Amino acid sequence: MRVNTLKRAAVAFALALPAAAVATVAAAPAAHADGCYTWKRNLYQGRSGDDVRQLQIRVAGWAGNRDIVENDGRYGPKTAAAVKRFQAAYGLRADGIAGPQTYGKLYDLQDNDCTPRHFSYSEMDDGCGRGGWSGGPLSAAQTRQNALRTMWKLEALRRSLGDKPLLVSSGFRSRTCNDQVGGASDSQHLYGNAADVVSRTSSLCQIARDARNRGFSGIYGPGYPDHDDHVHVDSRRENNSDDTPNTTSWSAPDCGIGAGRD
Ligand SMILES: [Zn+2]
Repeated sequence: MRVNTLKRAAVAFALALPAAAVATVAAAPAAHADGCYTWKRNLYQGRSGDDVRQLQIRVAGWAGNRDIVENDGRYGPKTAAAVKRFQAAYGLRADGIAGPQTYGKLYDLQDNDCTPRHFSYSEMDDGCGRGGWSGGPLSAAQTRQNALRTMWKLEALRRSLGDKPLLVSSGFRSRTCNDQVGGASDSQHLYGNAADVVSRTSSLCQIARDARNRGFSGIYGPGYPDHDDHVHVDSRRENNSDDTPNTTSWSAPDCGIGAGRD
């Protein structure tokens, strides 16, 4: 919130500058201050690097139906398509090229700790009330990184559902916490890769159906045992550390979502 206030103040300040100074400000997109990450060049198909990887984390929720945006630092057709969907979702010119407009929207959406505006690390690391990122199969840093990508997918889900609030009832779980709640032995929650989602304004079936287009490869909801009061979403296809194959698996029979793997 404080960040957004500062940004608004900066815009007001820029508007008060003489015309020549404003032109200088407008010509230097990299000058836009951001507490998390600042892109320094336009990105489009064929480019690669850590700046592409950073972008891929943030557009991961705009993958195509039953698809994912690989976080590989290479700007291929899938990344371009995801950027296009992101741009369309926020009313920007949808050209699939990441430049000042796209970065401006991302800066607007992200907090200083790189989490998207409507989700926070504290919401994802509650783990039976203990908090923290350790006690799972991965390092705390890697687990936290997975949780960040999960949150960007949730931000896309929230936007796609009409900006209606989504709540995370369970995010990362240590092994101890996972045992305590009776989670699956190789649960994606252990990796920071999963979230159990509830909402007061969207139905669970609306959430489960939309999640199929938001880069989630694991979805379990109404009609699947023990999932009638939340929707579980995860990124199992991107998890190379677990025991399960990198395939899509979703089931919410009451929502018409099949149990088949592909
Ligand atoms: Zn779950």
